[in-house]
Amino acid sequence: MKYLDEFSDPELAGKLIAQIKAVTTRRWSIMEVCGGQTHSIIRHGIDQLLPDEIEMIHGPGCPVCVTPLEIIDKAMEIASRPDVIFCSFGDMLRVPGSDKDLFRIKSEGGDVRVVYSPLDALTIAQENPDRQVVFFGIGFETTAPANAMTVYQACRLEIRNFSLLVSHVLVPPAIAAIMESPECRVQAFLAAGHVCSVMGTEEYPELCDRYSIPIVVTGFEPLDILEGIRRTVLQLESGRHELENAYRRAVREEGNGPAKAMLEDVFERTDRAWRGIGVIPGSGWRLSPKYREYDAEHRFAVTDIHTAESEVCRSGEVLQGLIKPHECEAFGTLCTPRNPLGATMVSSEGACAAYYLYRRLEVSHA
Ligand code: SF4
Repeated sequence: MKYLDEFSDPELAGKLIAQIKAVTTRRWSIMEVCGGQTHSIIRHGIDQLLPDEIEMIHGPGCPVCVTPLEIIDKAMEIASRPDVIFCSFGDMLRVPGSDKDLFRIKSEGGDVRVVYSPLDALTIAQENPDRQVVFFGIGFETTAPANAMTVYQACRLEIRNFSLLVSHVLVPPAIAAIMESPECRVQAFLAAGHVCSVMGTEEYPELCDRYSIPIVVTGFEPLDILEGIRRTVLQLESGRHELENAYRRAVREEGNGPAKAMLEDVFERTDRAWRGIGVIPGSGWRLSPKYREYDAEHRFAVTDIHTAESEVCRSGEVLQGLIKPHECEAFGTLCTPRNPLGATMVSSEGACAAYYLYRRLEVSHA
């Protein structure tokens, strides 16, 4: 299949790995930001094919994983209401809140529905004018344009029984927060191609300069990731710290103009809490004053719900690259995909779930 098979070619992968080995002279720690890249790295064993000197650190780029417990609890509260139809993508249904998940709410009689687009939720709102319909809008810059479009359409069509529970987060402030952590070991980043296909790359050169780090934008197939690593190592070895775009088939410097215009109209920047990490200034979006009436947190008065994170789960350390998932004492015992203690075990893009799926036998014998 074009753009899949041709970017998984083992012969070309072998050549890229040989080139990386040829230029590597010392230890380097590289963080892949995106959970999709983490999944691909672990699934294909890319980290095990690299020279020993290169460590891949798995970053906080899984949208489900970084959604704070507090917003999950707010979702539970709203979804429990008899007048509400609560719509979400399927991956949020098993994410544990403080004492239940959305599946439990559904089994207890809540009207929780899986949709494949936020616009589906808007259709449900049109079909059910006597009910309140809420869409759970989480994720990075990739999912935000569709959510923004839905709110814009709700406003344009005067659909007042629709609202959005928003928890959008942004990659560049997260890179800055990781670099400013006193425990940071990251020396370079692979940036997420799909995020940059929306937002472009204009925010990244300043980060390269401020923290003296190479940032290479790349995709998700094995050859994309290997090419990103190759370019990153070349920069590190030669002392350069620049933005490079290794995903030109999808990413332009200026990004997607109409999507960015929609985002600018519907959202405004805000401080956001990241699960296990805490509040990162200016790292998220909320609805702008023009669309604030569509904000589910205000409509259902759940702004006062505050929740502490689990003391057992070490996903915050996993998400900052301070430990690998199997170094958490609960990994594979108390915490499994069937019984997840933290969000990084729920989502297929979560580092804990990826290690459980592809590495648990290896790490349990290590
Ligand atoms: S293995 Fe489970 S408990 Fe441990 S960090 Fe991962 S999600 Fe949290």
